[in-house]
Amino acid sequence: MLQLQRIAHRNAPRTLKRLSQTGAHLGSLNAYQGYATSSDPYDVVVIGGGPGGYVAAIKAAQLGLKTACIEKRGSLGGTCLNVGCIPSKAMLNNSHLYHQAKHDFKKRGIDVAGVELNLPQMLKAKNDAVTGLTKGIEFLFKNNKVDYIKGAGSFISPTKIGVQLLEGGETEVEAKNIIIATGSEVAPFPGGAIQIDEKQIVSSTGALDLQEVPGKMVVIGGGIIGLEMGSVWSRLGAEVTVVEFLGAIGGAGIDEEVAKSFQKLLTKQGMKFKLNTKVLSAEKENGKITVKTESAKGGKEETFDADVVLVAVGRRPYVEGLNLEAIGVEIDNKGRIVIDDQFNTSVKNIKCIGDVTFGPMLAHKAEEEGIAAVEYVKSGHGHVNYAAIPSVVYTHPEVAWVGKTEQELKAADVKYNIGKFPFSANSRAKTNLDTDGFVKFITEKETDRILGVHIIGPNAGEMISEAVVALEYGASSEDIARTCHAHPTLSEAFKEAAMAASAKPIHM
Ligand SMILES: Cc1cc2nc3c(=O)[nH]c(=O)nc-3n(C[C@H](O)[C@H](O)[C@H](O)COP(=O)(O)OP(=O)(O)OC[C@H]3O[C@@H](n4cnc5c(N)ncnc54)[C@H](O)[C@@H]3O)c2cc1C
Repeated sequence: MLQLQRIAHRNAPRTLKRLSQTGAHLGSLNAYQGYATSSDPYDVVVIGGGPGGYVAAIKAAQLGLKTACIEKRGSLGGTCLNVGCIPSKAMLNNSHLYHQAKHDFKKRGIDVAGVELNLPQMLKAKNDAVTGLTKGIEFLFKNNKVDYIKGAGSFISPTKIGVQLLEGGETEVEAKNIIIATGSEVAPFPGGAIQIDEKQIVSSTGALDLQEVPGKMVVIGGGIIGLEMGSVWSRLGAEVTVVEFLGAIGGAGIDEEVAKSFQKLLTKQGMKFKLNTKVLSAEKENGKITVKTESAKGGKEETFDADVVLVAVGRRPYVEGLNLEAIGVEIDNKGRIVIDDQFNTSVKNIKCIGDVTFGPMLAHKAEEEGIAAVEYVKSGHGHVNYAAIPSVVYTHPEVAWVGKTEQELKAADVKYNIGKFPFSANSRAKTNLDTDGFVKFITEKETDRILGVHIIGPNAGEMISEAVVALEYGASSEDIARTCHAHPTLSEAFKEAAMAASAKPIHM
């Protein structure tokens, strides 16, 4: 089988081989038009080069499938690498270091005079991280022999895609299997009452590239993106007020107890919160913005001044220009492409993954789906465990969770135990002078099986992976409690919380 695939690859047109070696892309060459014809189609074409799409494309090529990926942005990596996970984490990390240097170093015995913010350099460091990583994916495409077609794809038929090439002109590609991975876009403010200009009234994209620190910033939406970007600008000196319609911050899936602690800690850091509050409008006048709100239940109007308003009310699936209507791919009333449990859309041989379909809008969820969808194409088997997909908020402290929350279990009338351990009792956290937060295990009362783990504290985003592995393997809290954890590490708090759930912690 492998041998056959190698021969098939050797028989590919010589020009294509030469180009993939030199790194030139398909989009710039008319010579490629019609390369993958109905008599010689691709095995897999992926539309969208985000974390779902590019991972699917690489995996498909690794499995010996002739693969192309169509991406219209001009760089690979999608929302995540270009305007999402990566640039936001660059800003979070560097703003945290700045804040520490300014407000925290002294108590650690580090005297640094004249700490100043160099915002252009901080933005450049972010942009460099983005460029390095997006170029890295092009390199991975080359290494894995994925054809990268730069342009916007649109269905002509269920097996044929027309591509409007970025460098001008058009081409068509034929494929036996197509994977739609076109992701999501910023959701506009409901009703159109607030227009994003990406300068003063910004989405997360504009908030990643503000050219000066706003005096006052209002963040509409206390979900993950709003809190992360609010944290960045708060650390850099802005007075940040987060307005949230719901009664808690952190968005869907966060444990209520964690959300309360989280809000307290961010408040201690200087951020302000208006919960149960609905934003009505944001009007610009003389360089300032007036944000009008009322109580979520109605009445009690208030106004806030702002230099910058961040609209962070969510994201929505993106299908523009795909011409799905023409081939009959079904979409639900939230704009998501409808799929079955094997990522099949309503049209044969067209699959769909990532933000543009159901489930949490997370890069790692899209990646898992990309791999599983391709495995279904290749072998008819694939798997994603949606019960073990972690969420992380990369503030300081970080917040991370996987599995069920207490409120979900109460609603489902499931009996459970709680095991909690505070970082203030963990030797490494104390040594690091970084003791805010706790680890919380939720286990099934009868069996001790771990149902959920919720962490607020330093390094929570790394530590949650241990909980994900535990959930994947159906571990009990006693399994974790009996597993040796290195000393002195923050992860000992994880073990002690497991001990608290199954017996008693030692250090508390
Ligand atoms: C500020 C911010 C921070 C985030 N932080 C995190 C985080 O820390 N962790 C995390 O897990 N997630 C995070 N996310 C979410 C994450 O970015 C998305 O879940 C992820 O990018 C989804 O991947 P995807 O492949 O489904 O889609 P996308 O990344 O959106 O990629 C889709 C790609 O398809 C392309 N495309 C669309 N239509 C066409 C077409 N017709 N032809 C060709 N190409 C097309 C688009 O140009 C795009 O590049 C963040 C998002 C934002 C906005």
